Amino acid sequence: MESVRREKVAALLKSQAGRKVLAKGWVRTKRGNKNVAFTALNDGSTIHNIQIVCEMSRFTDEMMRPVTTGACIGVTGTLVESQGSGQNVEILADEITVYGTADTSYPLQKKGHSLEFLREIAHLRPRTNTFGAVLRIRHAMAFAIHKFFNDKGFYYLHTPLITASDAEGAGAMFQVTCLDLQNPPKKEDGTIDYSKDFFARHTNLTVSGQLEGETGALALGEIYTFGPTFRAENSNTPRHLAEFWMVEPEMAFYEIEDNMDLAEEFIKYLVKYALDNCMDDLQFLNDMFDKELITRLQSVISTEFARISYTEGVKILENSGRKFEFPVYWGADLQSEHERYLVEEHFKKPVIMTDYPKDIKAFYMKVNPDNKTVRGMDVLFPKIGEIIGGSQREENYEKLQNRIKELGMNADSLWWYMDTRKFGSAPHSGFGLGFERLLLFVTGMSNIRDVIPFPRTPKSAEF
Ligand code: ATP
Ligand code: MN
Repeated sequence: MESVRREKVAALLKSQAGRKVLAKGWVRTKRGNKNVAFTALNDGSTIHNIQIVCEMSRFTDEMMRPVTTGACIGVTGTLVESQGSGQNVEILADEITVYGTADTSYPLQKKGHSLEFLREIAHLRPRTNTFGAVLRIRHAMAFAIHKFFNDKGFYYLHTPLITASDAEGAGAMFQVTCLDLQNPPKKEDGTIDYSKDFFARHTNLTVSGQLEGETGALALGEIYTFGPTFRAENSNTPRHLAEFWMVEPEMAFYEIEDNMDLAEEFIKYLVKYALDNCMDDLQFLNDMFDKELITRLQSVISTEFARISYTEGVKILENSGRKFEFPVYWGADLQSEHERYLVEEHFKKPVIMTDYPKDIKAFYMKVNPDNKTVRGMDVLFPKIGEIIGGSQREENYEKLQNRIKELGMNADSLWWYMDTRKFGSAPHSGFGLGFERLLLFVTGMSNIRDVIPFPRTPKSAEF
């Protein structure tokens, strides 16, 4: 059977009938009668299956018995024009090789399992239509991110996952240690002596690559990071993971307006890339989960995002006459319900909000002349709320130093970060896009656990 080269199902479905072919993949369904058996084969290359037709004059019942839902098989045969509806071509089988059987305990026997159930079999769910579609789109978006930045002359900078600066303030951190937890070395005052630990200091998993990213921008001009980040936030929401991927561009000589322009261009590029390259998968998700998905994606690439200040946003919310669960007042950290009101009901399009009160934002954001607000910007999206958080960074050494003091932060571990302001500082800006939040928007899925292969959330790290 190996004399014919294996082709992927995606390619076979688009090709001309009338030749010998070899396909390999997993059986989705099998049906038939005593004369003929129809098997739907999928190999992950497309949402569509190829139909395998076995005439029972050539195949015995015994040969067909191991060809069950979930089994992995190879098929040689002739690619013929399909008699039935729903596909152009099918394979009229000569020979079937069974690589791996699957008995009746295979959990994906029937269609229509709940997303909750599928999370319990995260190792098998890529074999469903839904997760095949999501994972192909996830790949396409990762590729498009690299393409977007590469085409613009940004460099992909690898920032560390293990960090000693625990002052970033983006969220609670996971500690990294090799100390014996039963019997850790202690200092005279009774506290743990981290100088005896692997790195000779206290270390954590990173919550963001930004601070290291800034050192790259102030040398290479324009960089981006794209990697996993970790937050030990005990918030069980459909939009938070403990391990998620973040894209963080950082650019020298960008003011906040340039930063907003880049963020808007970037998201539109990614959404357009999905519409141009993932239509089969999007159509499936649109039909199955979210009838407005494709319309919503199209509308985002054709509308200009609204741009408002935090102060304006708070006024709109206060005048909305709406009762929110969390109260709105100038100085409050806006909640997802507020963000979604602005996006979905007031503006009816994505919103970029800027100039937040300095007290609710991170130490590195550039303070405005009013000394009350900072040049932060969040991009707010329908159904999701915050998809991007970013800012122009404070480039002035003294101002940054004062801000760190004001917040009572420990500046010692940030000496290298402060050096970027001491030596050849420059105006610069950047932002962080949560990759899974983007995927929620692009796929229309409503739980962030369903857009990453192996979700990490409180009390859950199986697989
Ligand atoms: P939120 O208020 O939604 O928790 P944040 O203000 O903590 O977000 P940032 O620190 O600005 O978020 O991080 C940048 C981006 O990373 C966010 O805009 C969001 O897209 C994404 N993000 C943040 N926390 C998480 C998380 N726990 N899981 C998935 N994505 C996240
Ligand atoms: Mn958060």
